[in-house]
Amino acid sequence: MKFDRRLVIMITDLHGSKYINVDMIFKQLSAYVLVFILTLGLFIYASITIINKEIEETKNRNNYLLKEFADMQKHNQHLNKVVQEKDEEIALVGDKFETIESVIGVKKDDVGEETLLESDDFSLMERMDTTSISALQKSFIMKFIPNGKPLDIELRISGPYGKRYHPILKIYHIHTGIDMATPMNTPVYATADGVIDWASNSGNGGYGKLVKISHAFGFRTYYAHLNDIKVQRGEFVKKGQLVALSGSTGTSTGPHLHYEIRFLGQPIDPINFIQWDMQNFNSIFEKERRISWLSLLEIINNLMGRKQEQLQSSPQIQDSRGK
Ligand SMILES: [Zn+2]
Repeated sequence: MKFDRRLVIMITDLHGSKYINVDMIFKQLSAYVLVFILTLGLFIYASITIINKEIEETKNRNNYLLKEFADMQKHNQHLNKVVQEKDEEIALVGDKFETIESVIGVKKDDVGEETLLESDDFSLMERMDTTSISALQKSFIMKFIPNGKPLDIELRISGPYGKRYHPILKIYHIHTGIDMATPMNTPVYATADGVIDWASNSGNGGYGKLVKISHAFGFRTYYAHLNDIKVQRGEFVKKGQLVALSGSTGTSTGPHLHYEIRFLGQPIDPINFIQWDMQNFNSIFEKERRISWLSLLEIINNLMGRKQEQLQSSPQIQDSRGK
């Protein structure tokens, strides 16, 4: 015989009795709890799956970004290298441009004002005993440092040195030399002893046919717009020696000589040197203050002094003098 364990509660009130099957309620409740637990489980499972997926995605994204970062770093390195190369190129082009500027006689900024020695020696001119410079020393200086005209005709300056409006290029620039009007084929002479370091009919830009002479102590002279060059590169020339015939080659509106003096590569006003001679020997020390004349004179004095000593101590030379 089966024992029935159904639990029934009977509620009795004024209207009568009511039976409540407790077991049924318990079963229903269990079903609800089970459904709830299952739902919760499903929810947790789904959540974990989603979170895992998200973690995976984040990892992937992270890896991707790391890779991209590495690529960008590589690219950055490459760009840095390119920039460095360009910098070098610019520096190189700058050098070339400098040359081109000087070749066509154009320079934007003031020529070498800062870089050339702004000599204080001239406040020290009192220290320099110019009266003690002997005639021999003076003639030595006048032989080796450019002075006087490069032409044997009357000086007619058609374009001074310095800032001016370029008649052909239509821009303001520093005229690096002095223009002297000449008839065609006027002889052009070296203004000091030196060596021809440039004698070329082409490749000189606005200068046209050009001769450059390297002189002692850092000086150089340029003779431009020539019609005919009479010397060759490497040839030693004396002051007053014919180097060319004037003309109108390059950037030129008519026959003239563009004469330039450079000291340590930088143009200086040639007029002070053109007007410099034995009579006004000391004038250059006042007029051209960018050259350390004091130290230059010391060198020359030293050189000449030694030469005189040698002359005096050499019996052969004394003998030959005696004859
Ligand atoms: Zn000129």
